[in-house]
Amino acid sequence: MDSLNKGAFNFFRSDTQRDLALLTKALDASISGIIITDNTLPDNPIVYCNNAFLEISGYDRTDIIGHNCRFLQKNDRDQPERELLRKAIENGESCVVDIRNYKKDGTLFYNNLFVSPVKDENGNVQFFIGVQNNVTQRVKAEIKLREQQALMEKRIVERTQHLKESKDYLNSIVQTVRESLIVLDPTFKILSVNDHFIKVFKVTRDDTIGKEMYELGNGQWNIPRLKELLETVLPTNNPVEEFEVEHDFPRIGHKLMVLNAYRVELEGEYKDRILIAIEDITDRREIERRKDDFLSIASHELKTPLTTIKGFIHLMKSTVPAEADGKFKAALEKTDVYVERLNSLIAELLDVSRIQTGNIELHKEDFEFDKMVAETVDGLQTATKSHQITVDGATHSIYNGDESHIIQVLNNLLSNAIKYSPGSDKVRVHLSEVGNYIKVSVTDYGLGINHQDQKKIFDRFYRVGEIQQHYPGMGIGLYVCDQIIKNHGGSLWVESEPGKGSTFSFTLPVHTEHQQ
Ligand code: ADP
Repeated sequence: MDSLNKGAFNFFRSDTQRDLALLTKALDASISGIIITDNTLPDNPIVYCNNAFLEISGYDRTDIIGHNCRFLQKNDRDQPERELLRKAIENGESCVVDIRNYKKDGTLFYNNLFVSPVKDENGNVQFFIGVQNNVTQRVKAEIKLREQQALMEKRIVERTQHLKESKDYLNSIVQTVRESLIVLDPTFKILSVNDHFIKVFKVTRDDTIGKEMYELGNGQWNIPRLKELLETVLPTNNPVEEFEVEHDFPRIGHKLMVLNAYRVELEGEYKDRILIAIEDITDRREIERRKDDFLSIASHELKTPLTTIKGFIHLMKSTVPAEADGKFKAALEKTDVYVERLNSLIAELLDVSRIQTGNIELHKEDFEFDKMVAETVDGLQTATKSHQITVDGATHSIYNGDESHIIQVLNNLLSNAIKYSPGSDKVRVHLSEVGNYIKVSVTDYGLGINHQDQKKIFDRFYRVGEIQQHYPGMGIGLYVCDQIIKNHGGSLWVESEPGKGSTFSFTLPVHTEHQQ
């Protein structure tokens, strides 16, 4: 019995040792760091650590055994997780924290620490087991995410504030502009109007908001052509530009209004709206009319005495004695030149006033187009030393049109090409047939015209800002040319690059039976 007991005991002992060795091996094979602290000893020192803990912490066993775990935090003591740990240990409870720890070489790592008490049969805590994992990457990702969220929230707050400010800012502009503004929804119902609209049309917001645009007043905007145009604004994004409405408006009487409509481009809440800007141009048009009248009267009045002066000069020239003073003859010649210049300026002004009153008359006749171009170029070339004018291409057309007016257009484009290209010595005329049109292009290599001015130069009296001081002119040549070409059913346009030069082209429709 005794020997049996002893044998059994031996067997048991060797089994326990084997188990212990196995357990230690298992602990060392774990990829989690494991430590055991002895709670019965002062300051709860570490009594065991596995290999993974050495790996995670970078310390040697001798640096670890006998120490309290706090060395892992170095001087980074101000962590709320430490307080959680302290309380759990005090109360003999388990807890999990992510805590900032430092390796022996000072590198920070986030330690996911699970602390669990080991109690004796009386419930007193004997040991604590700490299982640790380096979760630096996860925690860093979480911190980054939190930071990004915070940044995003901050941006949203800023953006909301910015939007509010922009809205207030836009609102103040809309309310102060000196144009009447209306915003329509896609069914042409009025969503809002600005103060200027209320003032100009002498209406209230209640009279206006929620109504269909065409129901307003006494139906002043209920114009089939306007309706047609407005209906294309949203689907095609094409604005309605400079649509004139002359009407007897309720409360404000007979007025001339000009209307522009655009699709509101903002995405989101304000998509699919139409913004209409209306300007009262009654007074402006009246002033323009008076100016035109003045121009017409003045040029007519100037023309008559000038014709008489011209007659006298010719008389003097034909009767001047052969032995007359050379100075006198030269003065007479100069007077003739200047009177001729004055005469053509007045003729231009008369052209403008004739166009204004719709009195420009075309005397259409068949003429050889290419011959007319060659002769006009020759005429100008004789008077021009600075530039060489070349003609290439051909239209091969007998054209039916007002020859003298077309010559006037060509002369104008050529003299502009010469005038506005002081640094170059070439002007090129190119003729071509394009479908049922003849096309003439005049190219110079001079100052060029910037994009904004390209549209305006065909307006009467418009001259490009920096040019007007240096070159003589009245800004009506292109206006007259444009009207002449339009009256022939053609179009005139410019392509230009500042500093490189310009090409003015016009097309004229030809009837096939007139082509050679
Ligand atoms: P004017 O030459 O008398 O000013 P135009 O109506 O012929 O009047 O021309 C209007 C304006 O267009 C000119 O003042 C000038 O600014 C610009 N312009 C016309 N032709 C040219 C050109 N070939 N190159 C550069 N600018 C030009």
